[in-house]
Amino acid sequence: MKRILVTGGAGFIGSHLCERLLKERNEVICLDNYFTGSKENIVHLLDNPYFELVRHDVTEPYFAEVDEIYNLACPASPPHYQYNPIKTIKTSVMGAINMLGLAKRVNAKILQASTSEVYGDPKVHPQPESYWGNVNPIGIRSCYDEGKRCAETLFMDYHNQNDVKIKIIRIFNTYGPRMNPNDGRVVSNFIVQALKGEDITIYGDGTQTRSFQYVDDLVEGMIRMMNSEDDFIGPVNIGNPGEFTMIELAEKIIEKTNSQSKLVYKELPKDDPMQRKPDITLAFNNLNSWKPVINLDKGLQSTVKYFESVLQPSLM
Ligand code: NAD
Ligand code: UDP
Repeated sequence: MKRILVTGGAGFIGSHLCERLLKERNEVICLDNYFTGSKENIVHLLDNPYFELVRHDVTEPYFAEVDEIYNLACPASPPHYQYNPIKTIKTSVMGAINMLGLAKRVNAKILQASTSEVYGDPKVHPQPESYWGNVNPIGIRSCYDEGKRCAETLFMDYHNQNDVKIKIIRIFNTYGPRMNPNDGRVVSNFIVQALKGEDITIYGDGTQTRSFQYVDDLVEGMIRMMNSEDDFIGPVNIGNPGEFTMIELAEKIIEKTNSQSKLVYKELPKDDPMQRKPDITLAFNNLNSWKPVINLDKGLQSTVKYFESVLQPSLM
C-alpha cells in the first residue's frame, strides 16, 4: 500500500483524485486550507480508514512520511486567484518549495499540477510542450501564470540539482461535478445561469476558444503520469484537443438544460487568452496511449446533473 499526499485535495480536481487513489487501495492524506475547496467535496470519503484529512497551508512546511505527492494546492479560477494575488503566487512558489523539500527529505515522487496558462495568450496553435509561451509578467493573470511557471522551474532545479523524482503535467481547462458553483469559471457560470434562467454572460465577443477536458480523463492522465517511466518527467500536456468558442459552449449548455436564457455580452477581462488547444502527442506516446475518452457533450450531461442537484432548493 502506498501512502500518498494530495495537496489541494478538498478542491474540485483533488477530491476526484483522492477518491480514485483510495479506490486503488492507497492510503491518502488530503491536505487543504479550504480557501476554494470544501469539506463537502470529500465528506463521502471520511468513513474510509485509509483517508486522512489535514488542515494546513502549503506556504508553511509540512512533514509526513509519504511515497508520493500530488501538488494541487492553488486557487485555479481567475476571480479566486486574483482575489489575493500575493497569496496566490506565494502558494505556487512557497508551496512548491515546501513540497519539494518534503519529497527530497522522504525520497518521495512528486507531481506538479501545472497549467496551460504557462503558454499565456499563445502565438503557436495548438500548443506543444516545446512552446515557451507568451505571458504578461505584470498583468492581472501574472500571479497565477508566473507562479506556476516558477513552480515548474523549481521542480526542474530540484530534479537536476538534488535528484528529486519529479513529474510535471500542464492541465488544460477541466470541468465536471464538484466545480464550485461560485468560482467564476466559464463552465460552472454558464450552467448555473442556464439552470436559473439568468442571462448567460459572454465575455468579449465570445469567439475566443478553449479546449474542455472532463475531470475523469484528467485523473486517469495524472495517475498514468505518476506511474510512468522514471526518466519521463514532462512537462506534458493533459487536455482534450476538442476546441470550442464560448458561444458554442453557451449554445450547448442552453440545449442540454432546455433553458430560456439569453446571451449577453460583457467586457473581456484583460489578458484573456484568445485561443487554447493542447497538442497531446507527447502524452499519447509516453502514457500508454492516453487520450481523453469523454467528449464535451457527454461530460456536460453529468456536470449539468450535478449542478441540478446542488442548486435544487434555489431552483424551486
Ligand atoms: P480548486 O480551487 O477547486 O482546488 C484548489 C484547492 O487548493 C482548494 O481545495 C483550495 O482550498 C486549496 N488551496 C488553495 N490554496 C492553498 C494553500 N495555500 N494551502 C493549502 N491548500 C490550498 O481548483 P481545481 O480546479 O481543483 O485545481 C486544482 C489544481 O489544478 C490547481 O493547482 C490548478 O492550478 C490546477 N489546474 C486546474 C485547471 C482546471 O481547469 N481546473 C487547469 C489547469 C491547472
Ligand atoms: N468567460 C465567459 N463568461 C463567463 C466566464 C468566463 O465568457 O461567465 C470566458 C473567459 O473570458 C475566458 C473563457 O470563458 O475567455 C474561459 O474562462 P475560465 O475562467 O473558465 O478559464 P481560463 O480563462 O482560465 O481559461
